[in-house]
This record gives sequence, structure tokens and C-alpha cells, in this order.
Amino acid sequence: MDPRGFPTTLPEFQCVFPDDAACAAYLESVRWPDGFVCNSCGCYGDPYRFGTRSSVVLRCKGCKKNTSLTAGTVMESSHTPLSVWFWGAYLMTTQTPGQSALQFQRQLGLSRYETAFTILHKLRAGMVRPERDTIGSEHPVEVDECLLGGEPRGKGRGVHHKVTVIGAIEVRTRKSGEMRTARRKDAHGGGVPLKKNIYGGRLRLQAISDRSAKSLTAFVKGNITPGSTVLSDGWHGYSDLPKIGYKHRPLVLAGDPEKAEAHLPMIHLVFSNLKTWILGTHHGRVEPRHLQAYLNEYVFRFNRRFYPMTAFNSVLGLAARSVSPTYAQLYSGEWEHPASGAKVA
Ligand SMILES: [Zn+2]
Repeated sequence: MDPRGFPTTLPEFQCVFPDDAACAAYLESVRWPDGFVCNSCGCYGDPYRFGTRSSVVLRCKGCKKNTSLTAGTVMESSHTPLSVWFWGAYLMTTQTPGQSALQFQRQLGLSRYETAFTILHKLRAGMVRPERDTIGSEHPVEVDECLLGGEPRGKGRGVHHKVTVIGAIEVRTRKSGEMRTARRKDAHGGGVPLKKNIYGGRLRLQAISDRSAKSLTAFVKGNITPGSTVLSDGWHGYSDLPKIGYKHRPLVLAGDPEKAEAHLPMIHLVFSNLKTWILGTHHGRVEPRHLQAYLNEYVFRFNRRFYPMTAFNSVLGLAARSVSPTYAQLYSGEWEHPASGAKVA
């Protein structure tokens, strides 16, 4: 359990969401934090709930109209039990990023591969929305490019071109600790980065056609707040940044990999993990037309790694606003499942 009450282990998750009824209760609480309101007649008050395993319907006691708990979510019209969706969302956002449909099918004991595939596909669709706000402002931003993809293993599979990916990440400084000011000063002073005191903030990744100044500055303008400090290597493609309103800190002594590592530690770590993920999950084969979707998925997970509950709700298509009850309340039993005292119509 993390401090926000989100289950951090599978047994905890199972405790919070032991069955479909618990999942249904959660959906109800997210949609009506202050209690059920009928969509048709607008009346308040406890609805009828149905005890069957697959029911996601609430019935108004006033007008007798049904309301679906999954309407407007990724689970709408699905015949797959809620618990399977919940497990899928949990695994996808916290446990085994990018796992295969086959692994997923086995883990959940699903009889059909197609069901697993469809669920993963729909959940993943909730992760590929581009993040539109710009990053930076008071946080310096590291920017660099890398090459992804390349030659396939074995012959006769056609040419797999490498694709250039550009990334930007905020360098955030932890607020605790006496040496805060001094360490911040040193963080990019050309020495060894003080990794304990800095961490990656928000991330952006984009596939670009080339490393020209035009491509690079277009990415910076589209993703980084004007006025921010931008750290880059010495590549001349970045030299226009001061002209378009950024505080540019290029690496002066180019060509030394260790210096570059110390200057841009965060984005290099991201690239390294990104390559591992692409290799492990997609066997290094990246179709250029799919690459941006993978990058968006990676960014989605990275930017929510401290907010697993937000990620979980987001892939299920639940409203991003705060939810009640919290997982902690569910877990501790503080909150009573509406379904537990259900009157079945
Ligand atoms: Zn009604």
C-alpha cells in the first residue's frame, strides 16, 4: 500500500477488489461520490442493485430506469467481468508494463486469447493520448535525441530503419536536505550528477524525421514552456534556442561521453530504459508508424509512476477527478460496499 492507499502488491489488490461486486461498488463510488442520482428523473436515493455476477446495472427506485455503471468507460458493452478489466488495468499501469496478451491470458485464466488481446488493446488506447501541456518553467529541462529500432534479427524481413526520437525531461530537485542549494548548483556543474537529490519530472518523447535545427526547435517550442532553462549537448541544431526565448545551457566540451552523461543524466536514463522496454516487449522491432504510440504509452506510465491510482482510473476511462471512497478506505473496511447490503429487485 502506498501512502495514498493504492495497492502496491497483487495480494493487496486482491483484497481491495476481491470480486466483481467490489469493482461495481468502486465504479459507483467514482461516478456518484455523494450517492446515486438518477439520470432520467434526477431523484436521489439508493437504487436497486442486482446480485448477479455480471450485472453492471443500477435501477432507480423512482422511475425504474436502468443506468449502466460502465457507460462512458472502456468497459462499456463488454461481456468480460469487471474484475478482469480491473486486473488488466492494474497490471498494465503498475506491474508488468507492456506484457503480452498471452501472458495476460494465462495470468487471468482467460479461455480465449482474443479476449485478452481486446482488453489490452482497449486499455492501451487510454494510454496513447498525447500530453498537451508544456513542461519546464521553474524546472530545468534536459533535451537530447537517440536512435531506436534498427536491423532485425535474421534475414529477409525487409529493412528496418532506425528512427530518431527526441526527448525532454524536467530535472526536479528534492526539497528536503540541508545541502539543497549547494547540490542544485552542482547538479549540472560538469561533475558527477547527484542522483539522490534530483529526479525526473515530466517527460515528453517524440519521433522526428531528422536532427535538423527546424525539427529540434519545433519540438522544443511545442513541449517546453518559453523562458525555461534547456540543457542540451553541443549539437548546433539547438543553437537557436536563445533566440526563441529559452535559457540555453549546451554542453561546452562535446565529444566526451562521460561529460555528456553528467550533463544530461535524466534523459540518458530514460533512453536507456526505453530501449530496454522496446527490446523486451517489442523485440526491438519498431514499425515507424507505431512508434509514436509506444512512446506515448511510455510517457503515460512514466509521468504517472508516482500516481498509480490516476493511471489506473485513466486507462479504465473513469473520470480523472478525485474519487471517494479511497482505496485505503476500501482496504481497511472503513467504507461499506453498497452491494453488501443490496436489495435485489
Ligand atoms: Zn429515476
